[in-house]
Amino acid sequence: MSATTEPGAFAADVVAWQAVHGRNSLPWQNTQDPYRVWLSETMLQQTQVATVRDYFARFVAQLPTVQALAEASLDEVLGLWSGLGYYSRARNLHRCAQDVVRLHGGVFPRTAEVLVTLPGIGRSTAAAIASLCFGERVAILDANVKRVLTRVLGFDGDLAQAAQERKLWAEATDLLPLPALAAQTMARYTQGMMDLGATVCLARKPLCSQCPLQLDCRAHAAGSMENFPVRTRKLQRSSQSLWLLWAQDSTGAVWLQRRPVPGVWAGLYCLPVFDSEAALHEALPPAARGKLQALESFVHVLTHKDLHIHPMRVRLRAGRNVPSVDGGWVSNADWPSLGLPAPVRKLLETLGSA
Ligand code: SF4
Repeated sequence: MSATTEPGAFAADVVAWQAVHGRNSLPWQNTQDPYRVWLSETMLQQTQVATVRDYFARFVAQLPTVQALAEASLDEVLGLWSGLGYYSRARNLHRCAQDVVRLHGGVFPRTAEVLVTLPGIGRSTAAAIASLCFGERVAILDANVKRVLTRVLGFDGDLAQAAQERKLWAEATDLLPLPALAAQTMARYTQGMMDLGATVCLARKPLCSQCPLQLDCRAHAAGSMENFPVRTRKLQRSSQSLWLLWAQDSTGAVWLQRRPVPGVWAGLYCLPVFDSEAALHEALPPAARGKLQALESFVHVLTHKDLHIHPMRVRLRAGRNVPSVDGGWVSNADWPSLGLPAPVRKLLETLGSA
């Protein structure tokens, strides 16, 4: 078999391997329901399978169809997403469901070309839905698949450059199953590429001895697997300090405000956030300032940024407002179902009753 000289051979190997060694019993598999495939693909974009399992089950139990998602409030959707991070995914899911209902009569488009016009659906996700659900002959190219293909092909173009990424898309398309076999094999091929990237062709220490592409893999032959993919642009990390005002009344209710969009934790409910301790003090009635208690600071790591979080707690009389801060009191019974940033939820859950 040669990945580059025998049309269809590469795909046939992936398809045969997937049938025996691939993942075939994940909760979002064995279905051609584009709602479930789209939801799982979106959840899996930045989150591990083990975490997605529980979130996926809760999400489809509460919102089992694209119509139900379209009719849900954004708060309900963010509540179901709470803790998964990257909340723009949840906001896009909601907008996308509304567009599927409004523009497509509640039925997902069947081609990647149309799917990619919907909010939050990129080229690879569109291709995953179209190939897994409708057998369209179209290539996916998520991070895992980029790793597999660049290694097999010895593709050393810099994927930070759009021209090189386009070249890899073209290579991925050349390796698809033969057109005559596409209807029967596209779903398994797409799943096989995902599975190889996730379970065999690992970023570090790939399991080449278990790989169906080993004989044909240029990176393996050269022993240079970990040099691929090539991407020169590194994420610029930054850091930011935030002071959180945790105001609680005598009933245990907490003062929460909606975060502005865009920005950190956009659209989520949150303890009021300040850039400095002085600004936080200013927001309180003078009599309450002396009652502030500094809790242990911690670091919360986002993709591009380290957040140094300094929670400050104060107890106020029931019904008392927190001046100069937008928001409102939310009872102990209600805040758990809101979309909250993960570190804020953890704080409230672990110390809320203290
Ligand atoms: Fe990845 Fe190794 Fe397979 Fe090459 S042989 S595709 S490096 S797992």
